[in-house]
Amino acid sequence: MRHSTRRQLFGLSLTFSTVFAAAGGTTAAAAFAGQASTPSSAMVATAMPGLRPGDRVSLDGVSVLVPRPGHGAWGASVKVAGSRVLGVQTGADGSVTVYRQGVLTGHGAGGSPGSVRAGAKPLSACSDAAYSLTGASWRTRVDWYFKTSSTPGEITQSDALSALRDAMRNLTQVNNDCGLKDTVSANSLYMGGTIRSANIGTGSTCSASDGMNVVDFGNLAATDLGYACWWTWGRSTTESDMRLNSTEYSWAVNLGGCVGKYSVEDVATHELGHTFGLKDLNENLHPALTMSLIMLPCQNAETTLGLGDVRGLKALY
Ligand SMILES: [Zn+2]
Repeated sequence: MRHSTRRQLFGLSLTFSTVFAAAGGTTAAAAFAGQASTPSSAMVATAMPGLRPGDRVSLDGVSVLVPRPGHGAWGASVKVAGSRVLGVQTGADGSVTVYRQGVLTGHGAGGSPGSVRAGAKPLSACSDAAYSLTGASWRTRVDWYFKTSSTPGEITQSDALSALRDAMRNLTQVNNDCGLKDTVSANSLYMGGTIRSANIGTGSTCSASDGMNVVDFGNLAATDLGYACWWTWGRSTTESDMRLNSTEYSWAVNLGGCVGKYSVEDVATHELGHTFGLKDLNENLHPALTMSLIMLPCQNAETTLGLGDVRGLKALY
């Protein structure tokens, strides 16, 4: 089995810094060309000699397979305790660079949403202009499919689909409570159901792209509520897939009477935000924005964009 022969690079900072040291110190700490609005969330780039297309890179609980030369592969996990982004770029010459999110200070498991670090005062959704970009964006309409048969038993297929369509529209039509007009050119079209699965392997790994944008429910690493993968060519996003974890978590579309379930639209809006080019923001500093890190059960707070989310999309589309 091909998978078992892949060299795996797990975790962590030890492995990472060892390889980095061997590389003679290339580009660590360099901000990714996509730039970020705050230094704390800049991507850290590190050359990884010895990695080849098809190898698996796992860092911070996110895994992606190294793409073929000229391409990039990115993954974003949403965990109950927060969210992480990892990218791998293969140069035309076969050189591999790994991008990981810089430390988002104040982020931590169990951090109560809305709690404030000393000296930092969170802004409201309509006054917080912060955003951070992954460095890639769509140059085309996002034509997407839903594996309807993957819908978990606690919700209907039609409810799941409408929540996913709403999530996509929340981004492309900048659904917000701030009175901000939709001047964002991002566009998507639901193409129909599919029997194909998202290209996301067991244990939450972005596998090889297949040219089709698929959303499904299915198995992920137990800590992941949701997982998004996107693949790039230069700074253009060419494909994205997303999975919501129906093995370890229960899902809701209508939140009346909700206990311990996660809103499909809420988690999907945040995850799709990544695939459109937005990165996570510190929860404590930006709790009211959709791209803040933490997801809570039975809430739809992320379904309406804040000022920073809209500004980020406007910067790209
Ligand atoms: Zn995230």
